[in-house]
Amino acid sequence: MSFVAHLEAAIDGTRIPARTIQTTHEGRPLWVRYDLETISRSVSRSDLESRPPSLWRYRELLPVDDDDAIVTLGEGMSPLIPCPHLGEHVGLDRLFIKDESQLPTGSFKARGLCMAVSMAKQFGIRRLAIPTAGNAGGAMAAYAARAGIESFVFMPADTPLINRVEASLFGAKVFLVNGLITDCGAVVRDGAERMGWFDFSTLKEPYRIEGKKTMGLELAEQLGWRLPDAIFYPTGGGTGLIGMWKAFAELDAVGWLGRRERPRMYSCQADGCAPIVSAFDRNERFAEPPASPHTVASGLRVPKALGDFMILDAVRASGGRALAGRENRIREWMTIAASLEGVSLCPETAICLDALATEVAAGRMQRDEEVVVFNTGAAQKYPETMIEPTARIDHQNVDWDLIASAS
Ligand SMILES: *Cc1c(COP(=O)(O)O)cnc(C)c1O
Repeated sequence: MSFVAHLEAAIDGTRIPARTIQTTHEGRPLWVRYDLETISRSVSRSDLESRPPSLWRYRELLPVDDDDAIVTLGEGMSPLIPCPHLGEHVGLDRLFIKDESQLPTGSFKARGLCMAVSMAKQFGIRRLAIPTAGNAGGAMAAYAARAGIESFVFMPADTPLINRVEASLFGAKVFLVNGLITDCGAVVRDGAERMGWFDFSTLKEPYRIEGKKTMGLELAEQLGWRLPDAIFYPTGGGTGLIGMWKAFAELDAVGWLGRRERPRMYSCQADGCAPIVSAFDRNERFAEPPASPHTVASGLRVPKALGDFMILDAVRASGGRALAGRENRIREWMTIAASLEGVSLCPETAICLDALATEVAAGRMQRDEEVVVFNTGAAQKYPETMIEPTARIDHQNVDWDLIASAS
């Protein structure tokens, strides 16, 4: 049995029983609540040390009751990489990238979906459907394949090629929709009864947050059970930011944090689709969808987040901000980070770096502050954002001058 006590409606605190299939309350997400007092008596930080390096080492803080339900590809414990050269470039002495590009299916979606699919398996759900404009479809399809669960994926027709093909590679039934992600969401919602599938849309089931929160647990452990000064997080649906903020509260409650200060949370969006930033600037708790959302950072192309108020509450409570990075700087930041540090940076994280550099330049971030940027996916999944090499060599008549001039 897990230590889950109950579920709780995020919008009004209503208690909802755990251990039965739940979705939302008043159309808004649910929190998973644990018996944290019993957890703090049952497990200590040092107990973790002997466990395998995956997110399942935080077993007591995770919702799965039945070990046999766990569906895993060895995800988690992504490296926390010091980036001195990139730090120098933006004007920081202590810049780290938590590199989620190394997770199964090449993005941090694996964390949320391994948890959600494990819970679906525990509940005996046999068919899943998801709307996606990027990495979520592939991650769900991979874990569904591993669990032997049938999966349906609905994506806008202009979704990047890699995301379209990876979901079908993993055996999902993939459909291209002539509309936006919200239109895909409507198909999934409308099909629930007719097709008998479970709606896996972001935050429509309570367990994806629990998987994503392990980014926060790992970060604390990797820093010796303390937290950095600031976290930059590329925000679409916001699951990761919401999850990490929850993780920090839980770590504090079980008494695992040495230094209890929380980081300032910076929610970063592309300037072509920045509903959370607009709501933050207008001092609103709920976001309005932008008129024509566009960005190549597909993970950020979320016009309407179900958990908008959860993101904004966390950002404000932390003393952080919501910031728009510039779309036209994405390629530049990907190239800078990859060439200076060897990190395979996704366009979503390029947006974070642009926002971070602006904060530092404006004097709102001090040089000696410790900053962690989440690299949520692998650059290789976005070939359309990269420049193809064009220099040609004839192997029978090698042009050495051309080669020398490149160095
Ligand atoms: C989904 C996604 C995001 C946004 O994540 P949320 O937790 O939904 O805000 C960011 N980056 C990448 C690469 C993604 O796939």
